[in-house]
Amino acid sequence: MGKNLVIIGGGAGGASIAAEVRRRDPAMSVTMIEAGNFVSTAACPMPYYIGDLIKDENNLIARTPEKFRETGVDVRINTRVDGIDAAKGSVALSDGTALPYDVLALATSTDAFVPPIPGVDQEGVFTLKRLPDAIAIKHYIEKEQCRKAVIVGGGFIGMEMCEALRMRGIDTRVIDLAPRPVMRWDPEFTRAIVEEMERHDVPFLPDTKTIAIEKGREFRFRLNTNRGEMNADLIIMAVGIRPVNNLAKDLGLETGKTGAVRVNFAQRTSKENIYAVGDCCEVYHLVSRKWVHIPLGDIANKQGRVAGINIGGDSMIFPGIVGAQSFRIFNLEVAATGIDEREALESGYSPACTIVWEDSIVGAMPDAKRVGIKLVADRSTAKLLGAQTVGETGAVSRINTLSCALTAGMGLQDIGYLDFAYAPPFSPAWDPIHVAAQQLLRQMQSNAVGACNL
Ligand SMILES: Cc1cc2nc3c(=O)[nH]c(=O)nc-3n(C[C@H](O)[C@H](O)[C@H](O)COP(=O)(O)OP(=O)(O)OC[C@H]3O[C@@H](n4cnc5c(N)ncnc54)[C@H](O)[C@@H]3O)c2cc1C
Repeated sequence: MGKNLVIIGGGAGGASIAAEVRRRDPAMSVTMIEAGNFVSTAACPMPYYIGDLIKDENNLIARTPEKFRETGVDVRINTRVDGIDAAKGSVALSDGTALPYDVLALATSTDAFVPPIPGVDQEGVFTLKRLPDAIAIKHYIEKEQCRKAVIVGGGFIGMEMCEALRMRGIDTRVIDLAPRPVMRWDPEFTRAIVEEMERHDVPFLPDTKTIAIEKGREFRFRLNTNRGEMNADLIIMAVGIRPVNNLAKDLGLETGKTGAVRVNFAQRTSKENIYAVGDCCEVYHLVSRKWVHIPLGDIANKQGRVAGINIGGDSMIFPGIVGAQSFRIFNLEVAATGIDEREALESGYSPACTIVWEDSIVGAMPDAKRVGIKLVADRSTAKLLGAQTVGETGAVSRINTLSCALTAGMGLQDIGYLDFAYAPPFSPAWDPIHVAAQQLLRQMQSNAVGACNL
């Protein structure tokens, strides 16, 4: 008889494990336990569903429980794992039953953090983490005919949501405790982001602390902040996430500083026959050479597949990430990879930085737009450490190219002369990547200070 695999969590990571194990080991009994009523959902497109660019929530579901069951995976939705007895090898389910396992996989993700603000628990104040949240927000916008919204938190989800709410014609503002939105990016680039928000009538209010959410008169809420009162019919709290690690703690699994579960390159945890994947666990950063917590969907999919391959009897490692990330805000592409100058210092490098603004395609072409590129490199080796971009076109594709360069451990000299597929509609002959790499190398050779914010 085959072994019993129990997967806790049916999101991107859990569903990837189930699919891979099923392909590799038909004899293994696979059960996927999901607290919510969907499995295999794509959370990343949720802002576009709320903005009504994607009409039907079913398009956000890669595979239904029925489809999984057809392949022999036992999917239990609306069922929570409340506890694990590692000595007995069984999980306690919210329906009062227990389920034995030989191999266990945690794919429990993170929860949206809700700060303890008076009034935060009212209807109309939302977090956006899972598909039911997106469905509830969309339904609420339509039912209440929302006119004004406040997004608390200027991270990438806050950015994507302000575009989504403007698509619905809702007067929207973003407030944040920090002086700038999306602090991963250089102040020069966040300035471009704030200007883009303002072009679409979305003010960004920095250094703004939410004190209380009270009932309003003309609008449903009156938000009290250290910078005055604001009206809103809808409030989105997008202030961060926390790994869901109560089960990991019960099991005595090692966790990192962020609370995310420690894994090795095969996705094994510190305990025999227990794996972890996705947002609930750490991942190795190839540039900082540290185990980090970067909760992103593409990483969850890859970790899930690698865990599935190992559980299914083959052998595979997930070597790690370089920290590539992107989002869109109205007409701007925003992307980054690697590490910034602060992380570089913390990781023992000696960072040098430059910023260039160049035409993304040949300047004589109609619709040529500029793209900003910031590069961070190590002074002692001239190796690339990180990059950030912003622009209407070509920002994300350039970060993908630079992610390859980072993975290959390339230096500025080689990056400055990389062979690209040049043609006027796609790039200038000297691509902005070449220009930035050569400029940074020159600066480093002449000991110029550059654009580091340290
Ligand atoms: C609005 C938004 C936009 C995003 N955009 C991007 C993007 O553009 N690019 C990108 O790379 N990433 C993006 N992400 C992040 C991406 O969605 C996550 O990294 C990914 O979903 C993580 O997959 P996961 O399997 O770890 O967790 P999830 O997909 O969250 O699944 C975890 C599942 O575990 C279940 N669960 C938890 N505890 C238990 C328990 N005790 N018992 C049973 N079930 C349990 C939960 O109900 C949940 O369904 C976005 C996220 C959000 C919220």
